[in-house]
Amino acid sequence: MTGTDWDRRVGLGATTGTDWGRLIDFDREHVWHPYAPSPLATASLPVVAASGVRLELPDGRQLIDGMASWWTAVHGYRHPVIDAAVREQLSRLPHVMFGGLTHAPAVQLAERLVSMAPAGLEHVFFADSGSVSVEVALKVCLQYQRNNGHPERRKFLALEGGYHGDTLGAMSVCDPVGGMHRLWTGVVTEQVFAPRPPARSEDRAQWAATIHGLASQHAGKLAAVVAEPLVQGAGGMWFYDPACLSTLREVCDRHGLLLVLDEIATGFGRTGTLFASSAAGVLPDVMCVGKALTGGDMSLAAMLCTGEVARVASGGEAGCLMHGPTYMANPLACAAGLASTELLLSGQWERDVRRIEKGLLESLGPARRVPGVKDVRVLGAIGVVQLDHPVDVASATRDAVARGVWLRPFRDLVYTMPPYITNDEDVAAIGEAVVAAAAAG
Ligand SMILES: *Cc1c(COP(=O)(O)O)cnc(C)c1O
Repeated sequence: MTGTDWDRRVGLGATTGTDWGRLIDFDREHVWHPYAPSPLATASLPVVAASGVRLELPDGRQLIDGMASWWTAVHGYRHPVIDAAVREQLSRLPHVMFGGLTHAPAVQLAERLVSMAPAGLEHVFFADSGSVSVEVALKVCLQYQRNNGHPERRKFLALEGGYHGDTLGAMSVCDPVGGMHRLWTGVVTEQVFAPRPPARSEDRAQWAATIHGLASQHAGKLAAVVAEPLVQGAGGMWFYDPACLSTLREVCDRHGLLLVLDEIATGFGRTGTLFASSAAGVLPDVMCVGKALTGGDMSLAAMLCTGEVARVASGGEAGCLMHGPTYMANPLACAAGLASTELLLSGQWERDVRRIEKGLLESLGPARRVPGVKDVRVLGAIGVVQLDHPVDVASATRDAVARGVWLRPFRDLVYTMPPYITNDEDVAAIGEAVVAAAAAG
């Protein structure tokens, strides 16, 4: 559908004063969208407003957002507490440089994160996106090893099936096939990859032997192990046995490696515990958070590390951590983060995530009988239907939209990560739309 078709169909220009036809056409021709060509092959769907779990389209139609805007809007859109915090901050100090200056929202959010995070993570670096926080995590590990007398420890042991962001350093630790490393030979640093951690505990011993073997073979040049705990998200929505995290900790302890856990997707309750690593009681040396940190209002991420990592990485020749984003610790984003984490402190998220898990288990069940469906899996507020073929994104999306639900499938996956406030009726509607989209795609 072109912009003009859209405009004609819904007759918008006249009622809203916005020439949607022109806007959508310019968007399609000139504006780059995530993982898309430019010009776009398919026109984007315009959104004019959002409230609670619903997105509003220019023609007044409402869609339940089964994606929570890429896993960020855990409390729903325009939550009054987050809204008020951002407005209040806007009236005082929307931004100020963080070099040499500081402000309450940053310090208070750092205190909050330290109190919520697994024990020992006491130093906080604010970054403006998840990918950047991963870059910072990698740098911290490299500076730590160098200052500990191991400049030769420059590589990372990462997991197949992983995803850590789109900047070059983060890309290097993403799944080499899914991350298309063959396009980037000689550009992206070659890292050491271990097989995907298994879902079934019966398969763990063999996997553990493999990763222990890889670590001892490469230990002399490895700085750290990098992994998403429990759920590998954008690399394929793979769930794995929590005990594998203990194996990663053992590998690190045996060979003097740091353990970096990327909780950007899993953090803040998504898998049923506040942080996914808590499910195994494993303590990382370095942790990244992002996505749900501000409840979806603004881009903010953070790298947390232990006192020992901060102390050693800050020493040496550089005498500092070599990173400092222009918009570091943006006060508006920090205010949103404070409000969002405050909402989490009530503990309601835990009951909601359990309730959504139950709802998704029920509503996604019928997908098992859909031809072309290979697997159905649910963990916390994550529901996944995996097909035996690449999904036809356009037709799957169209089918879901026709049912009043927004989904954004990728690869062979139709999935949902809804806001925690999604009520039972809406969870059921999302589940039905996922099943229908899986059948259509
Ligand atoms: C989304 C994501 C990132 C990247 O975050 P951006 O904010 O998109 O840069 C990194 N790691 C994981 C696990 C993610 O899910």
